[in-house]
Amino acid sequence: MSEGTVILKLGGSVITFKDGFMEANPASLSRLASEIHEAGREKLVLVHGGGSFGHPLAFKYKLHEGFRDYGQLEGFSRVHLAMRKLNRIVVESILAQGLKAVGIQPSSCVITRSGRIERFETTPLEKMLELGITPVLYGDVVPDLERGFSILSGDQIASYLGIRLNAEWIILGTDVDGLYTGDPKRDPEAKLLEKVTLDGLKRIIDEIGESSTLDVTKGMYGKIMELIPAIEKGVKVLIVNAKERDRVLKALRSEKVRGTLILRS
Ligand code: ADP
Repeated sequence: MSEGTVILKLGGSVITFKDGFMEANPASLSRLASEIHEAGREKLVLVHGGGSFGHPLAFKYKLHEGFRDYGQLEGFSRVHLAMRKLNRIVVESILAQGLKAVGIQPSSCVITRSGRIERFETTPLEKMLELGITPVLYGDVVPDLERGFSILSGDQIASYLGIRLNAEWIILGTDVDGLYTGDPKRDPEAKLLEKVTLDGLKRIIDEIGESSTLDVTKGMYGKIMELIPAIEKGVKVLIVNAKERDRVLKALRSEKVRGTLILRS
């Protein structure tokens, strides 16, 4: 039987130094590229976040508020350019491992309405997958039918594509071991939730609260909210620490790994 499609989202916290300014993490990227290569999945879509390439500029130009004044258009252009630079670095890391990958620019194939994806031309991406190419998308600033433009997170793209491509897995690689009962960076008592069902997740959501880092897409809370529609459709979700060696490899091979598994029931 042929393998199902996997959407692998790599957080900006993993592939960039979040405290720097437009600073990629080449060591992390090349290790992850080699894990992706070793896992050898047939149908893989890669989505990455912005980290220090996206968030500081998006914040500076208040892009999360939508189009308010012409000064923000410079921000639209600059965030977009920064994300293309990061995307190029990611694609180059993958190619260096001998894999085939093509960067796909969300702002030219997605339109949102009030921040939510309304249309997404996925035909080229699907064709690439059929050919054995890994499409590499990223969180971007995209045209929005109500707001002029909107920030579209890599998490929303991953969830949307998980549903649209009828994926088997969405794997979220981030900088903590999974979903905890509280923010593990601030609460030493927080416990890792190893397996959660949709009902359990909905109960936990109220207790999680929002991460207060300088992140216009709202940390773990935002991720979980984005993932719910995909989980409802039966896509399996696994959150792992992509900063730790071999976690992404094991997740891609569907092997047992430390992390949070989220299933519909
Ligand atoms: P990424 O850049 O990988 O997409 P984010 O920084 O947006 O990740 O979100 C992950 C962060 O969310 C973690 O580093 C963690 O500090 C924070 N966080 C807040 N609440 C939780 C929680 N309940 N469980 C896990 N992480 C949490």
